[in-house]
Amino acid sequence: MNFIISMLMVLFMSNPFNASDLTTETTTMETEVVIEGNDQMRFDLSEIKVKAGETVTLTLKHTGKLPKAAMGHNWVLLAAGTDVKAFATEAMKARDNEYIPEGSEQIIAYTALIGGGEETTIEFTAPEAGEYDFICSFPGHYALMKGKFIVE
Ligand code: ZN
Repeated sequence: MNFIISMLMVLFMSNPFNASDLTTETTTMETEVVIEGNDQMRFDLSEIKVKAGETVTLTLKHTGKLPKAAMGHNWVLLAAGTDVKAFATEAMKARDNEYIPEGSEQIIAYTALIGGGEETTIEFTAPEAGEYDFICSFPGHYALMKGKFIVE
């Protein structure tokens, strides 16, 4: 009888510790990024830093007023070594797919294309350590709307 009571106590005592360990782990493996795009064709961040393997929740906010057709923005993370200019040229032709070339292996993650006042959120796993480019793939925007995604 005593033995059973001791076992129950061990269970009761160990459970809260397990729960808090899990919480701590989840917190350190997630990061939230908010990036804004405006009517002046600019992102407000030129550099984003994350850690390899963590879950990145990225929100893109369009703080402008212009509609999607005139000043659409998205956020596209490109695989290491991608020729940005060549990719952007390819993306320009993918108008029916929000300027995302279908089946492209050069894309790690991307958001929907949005217009003024809208926002969109995606979740993805940070790739291996390295330096990656991100752009807006709306025609002509990549020259100004670009930055470095640095994975440590
Ligand atoms: Zn744009």
